[in-house]
Amino acid sequence: MATLTCRFYGRLNDFLQPWRRGRRFGHALRAPASVKDVIESLGVPHPEVDLILVNGSAEAFSRLVTAGDDLSAFPAFRSIDISGITRAGVDDPPDVRFVVDVHLRKLAAWLRLAGFDALILADDRELAETAGREGRVALTRDVDLLKRNVVRHGYWVRHTDPERQFVEVLERFRLRGWMAPFTRCLRCNASLVRASPADVETRVPARARAAFDRFLTCPGCGRVYWQGSHYERLLRLLAHVQARLEEARAR
Ligand SMILES: [Zn+2]
Repeated sequence: MATLTCRFYGRLNDFLQPWRRGRRFGHALRAPASVKDVIESLGVPHPEVDLILVNGSAEAFSRLVTAGDDLSAFPAFRSIDISGITRAGVDDPPDVRFVVDVHLRKLAAWLRLAGFDALILADDRELAETAGREGRVALTRDVDLLKRNVVRHGYWVRHTDPERQFVEVLERFRLRGWMAPFTRCLRCNASLVRASPADVETRVPARARAAFDRFLTCPGCGRVYWQGSHYERLLRLLAHVQARLEEARAR
């Protein structure tokens, strides 16, 4: 049977069956199909793809391909300027905000701790639609969720350990210099606001009010934050993550 030849580059190989990784392979095609349908039938969700070449020309996801064509797919480039080329993918949003699969709630907590906007949603359809409507990056370990048409920005989280996932997302979206710890509520994702000891009098133990004079409160859920032992522990965790990022950059 006539085949389409395909080659996937870089981290897109994570989605392929092993014998298709890092090499050009034939893919049987009975009828013309869109690039999006072809790459997703092979396991690669479209938001992970930045550049598509068909017979050497840059094309969109809607391009129809047929047997005899040659398709190459690339992830987002970090260091190569391809601004003159028509890309299939879209730029990462400038102020990146996330909508996180409920199964990754620990990753979402890390993102909030570092000050990033990270909604958590349980329903796949609602998650995909929120990502599309609000221009949020969908973070999930469910590849099929990212294949939904409505998702423009999305990322399949490779690691399973939450701390590694956090480092992975910081790296992928280049957020290392944009952390603003303790500015967002860990429970509900709202931005925290300053409060005086008097404002929080009924919600904070007397001992904490005596020891601290700076408090933050959440306009969403009312939770109060102050720089107690919990704060020190979180600072240490963030310092640990910074060290991991340095290691990742050194490699
Ligand atoms: Zn809150």
